[in-house]
This record gives sequence, C-alpha cells and structure tokens, in this order.
Amino acid sequence: MFFIISSILFFSIFQTCLSSEINLYTTRHYEADYEIYKKFRNKTGIKVNVVSGKSKPLEKRIIEEGKGCKGDLFFLADAGRLYSAEKKNLFQKIKSPLLNKKIPSHLRNDYWYGITKRARIVFYNPENVDFEKVKNLDYEDLGDKEWKNSIAIRQSNNVYNQSLVASLIHNLGEKKTSEWLENFVNNFYEAPSGNDRAQILAVAAGEAKLAIANTYYYALMLSGKKGKSQQEAAKRVKPLFPNKNNRGSHINISGIGILKYSPNKINAIKFLEFLVSEEAQTHLSTNSFEYPVVENINIPQILKLISKEFKEDKLTPVEIYGKLQTKSFNLMIEKKWN
Ligand code: FE
Repeated sequence: MFFIISSILFFSIFQTCLSSEINLYTTRHYEADYEIYKKFRNKTGIKVNVVSGKSKPLEKRIIEEGKGCKGDLFFLADAGRLYSAEKKNLFQKIKSPLLNKKIPSHLRNDYWYGITKRARIVFYNPENVDFEKVKNLDYEDLGDKEWKNSIAIRQSNNVYNQSLVASLIHNLGEKKTSEWLENFVNNFYEAPSGNDRAQILAVAAGEAKLAIANTYYYALMLSGKKGKSQQEAAKRVKPLFPNKNNRGSHINISGIGILKYSPNKINAIKFLEFLVSEEAQTHLSTNSFEYPVVENINIPQILKLISKEFKEDKLTPVEIYGKLQTKSFNLMIEKKWN
C-alpha cells in the first residue's frame, strides 16, 4: 500500500516537474511578444501558452473560472486596467528582489509590474504651429483660448485618456482639473472619434493643430509598419513632450500581475524576471517602440530620434491612475467629453 501511495506521489511530483509551462492571459497582440515567448522557452524549457483577448472579457473569464482558473499571468496595457484587475482580487502578491531592483517603484505596486513604458504626448504640424509657441507647452496650457477648435484626441471611454486626466487630478487637484477640463474640451477641433493614429493623421492633414497620442503609435507610423501613407503623414508631424520644465511628460505602462490561483507560480515569476532581462527589454522596445522600464537599455533609432526632449514624469506613481479612474471619468463626462 505504502509503495502504491508513494509511487503515485512520486509520479505526480514527477509530472509537475515535467509540466514546464505557463498560461498567459494577454490583451497584447504584437508579433514581437510571441517571439519573446519563444526566446523564453529556448532559454528555460518553459512553454508559454497564450490566451489573448480584450481586457474586459478576459477579466470576466478569470473571475468566472475562479479557483479553477489555469491562468498564471495577466498582461494588460495601462496601469488603470492593472489596478482594475487588482481591485477585483485577481492577483496575488509575489516576492522578487530582482523585479523590485530592476523596475522603478513608480511603475509597479505589490500586485503588478510595469514591463514596458509609453508617454502620452502632444503632436503638432510645424507648417501650422510655430515651434516657439509650443516648445515649453504643459498639459495645463491645452485649455488656453488660443487652442480653440484645435485639439484632436480620442473619446473619454479610452483608458489612456482617463489615466492622463487622473495624473492631472493627482498633480493639480480636482477643482483645477475640472476647470481645465471645461476649457480643454472646448478646444476640441471636432467631437472625438478614432484611435490614437487617427488623431496624428488629423494633425498631418491640417484639420487639427495639436493631437494627443502615445509615443509608440507615432514611431510605428514613422517606421513604415503601418504603410506608406501613414509614414508620410507622420513625417509631417513632430512630437512635443509636455511639462519638460516641471514634473515631466505623462507616462503609462504595459504590465503583468500573477493571477491569484496560478498553478505554475514559480515558472510565472521566472517569466516575469526574463521580461526585465536586457534581451527581452531590448526586443520589446525594438519591435513595439515602447520604452524599456529597465534603465540603460538601448532603444531603437526611431525612438532615440523622437525622444531627444523626453523628460519623464517620475514623480507620479502610475498606480494612482487606477485609484483616480472613476473620479477622472466622471469629470470627463460632466464636462461633455464624449
Ligand atoms: Fe495602445
């Protein structure tokens, strides 16, 4: 009997060791991410099984699966979404001195870690806007009368915008942000629609004077990966990093948390640690044009060229985007940002 039980035990331990895999739920859909999974497997023998989808359906699925959820990690874009998953109790705390050492503290919390970084900045067309006029621009100035009917930005239901407004609430307070929003919304060139690239295209076409979009979309367009006409449009547009004379430009992250019932926790931590290696950080930045979260990683030439004036806001912890999300969205709606 003892022999049978111990051999069953041995067999199941043996199987656990053999099942070198992790299950990653992700909202990212970049080819480069799949190459990273392959690199990780080659290095460690651990296979990455991917379940991809949009954040809300994946969140719902994880909640419904409960303790039976086979997912180990959840990869999301925007700190606001990571915070939402955290508040729904989807993540567990982990200990990794390596992650804490490599990822700056304003880009993580106890439950999730920033893996890549992006800035949400202003784009202008030098044919229509004098550089002298905008070189010292702050987000706060975007409510000024001189930008009446000038600004292109997507809708208020977009989480990147909610996070941007949350950062203003954090830095200026609710009252000032509310006043600013009133004027800012009045400066839209038309009712918001389309994605970030559409806003840059509106500026390239001279329909709007300023666009607000994430850096990687602009770099993607410039690279030619989105086709010749978007590349030509991007060339007519210049990036402008707001608030460079004070707290710096608004940044956000793409990040990962380990799921509460992760069946392969040790391998999941190994994967996270791999993602902050020089190899993975370089690969992600080179292919998606996001900024590495780890210091002293070489970034691609396009990113170098557009980032000369980049001063990052390191004072605002990205965690507050989630904490202030409801407040910021309510203010946006109140000020009729559709
Ligand atoms: Fe995006």
